[in-house]
Amino acid sequence: MADAYEMALARRREEILARIEAAAERAGRSSEDIRLVAVSKTVGEEELFAAIRAGYRSFAENRPQMLNAKLAALAEHPELPPVDFDLIGNLQKNKINAVIGRVGLIHSISSSHLAQAVSSRVLKRQGEGTPPLSGPQDVLIEVNVSGEATKSGFSPEGLRADLDGLRALPGIRIRGLMTMAPRGDRAAARRTFEGLGALRDELADRAPELDLSELSCGMSEDFEEAVAAGSTIVRLGRVVFDPSFALR
Ligand SMILES: *Cc1c(COP(=O)(O)O)cnc(C)c1O
Repeated sequence: MADAYEMALARRREEILARIEAAAERAGRSSEDIRLVAVSKTVGEEELFAAIRAGYRSFAENRPQMLNAKLAALAEHPELPPVDFDLIGNLQKNKINAVIGRVGLIHSISSSHLAQAVSSRVLKRQGEGTPPLSGPQDVLIEVNVSGEATKSGFSPEGLRADLDGLRALPGIRIRGLMTMAPRGDRAAARRTFEGLGALRDELADRAPELDLSELSCGMSEDFEEAVAAGSTIVRLGRVVFDPSFALR
């Protein structure tokens, strides 16, 4: 009994995937290297379930409490296919235990302090706790490429300086970099995303043992620019869940 909302989400999903496919092709990339993450932070359980039925399998939340409420709701619906969650957005130290082991990827490691705190909590939980952790937590390093004062994350300079400390932390596994672009300016967004890719290439040269393959960038208004610049994870909220959001 697919309702109208679920059908609208499914149609929108096809449009988004076609846009990603076309942008990837223009850039000489394969769309298989791009993961579409549906940011469900503004919607409730019913909309989340509709999105799963519409075909989404990868979600992100920005509040540990909402993440856990949705995981609990999903546990009561074993008929739905399994899905994964990532954590995006500011992570407070006292919420770290509520997310480690429950999310595939924490996108928002924005300081060395936070990285150390996540690593030490993971080590404490190895082999015990709920859920018990069997290995390091996968994370991305958030970089403030555009330099806007309102954005969190490492400055490129700060990350260069702290990289050796970060790569030595045994409780986290760094998988790549994440950024957010200035709003409402597609050219600036493109430059920001290209800057993220260039920084990744530079750091990968310096630390060849690190796997920095993931670039998390691109939101509802700029995901095609992100794909053009090498994004491997686009984080889409409004364009996924609001059928009235204009897909430009
Ligand atoms: C809310 C949010 C998104 C999704 O934004 P939309 O513009 O709705 O696509 C992506 N990334 C982060 C970090 C967010 O907080």
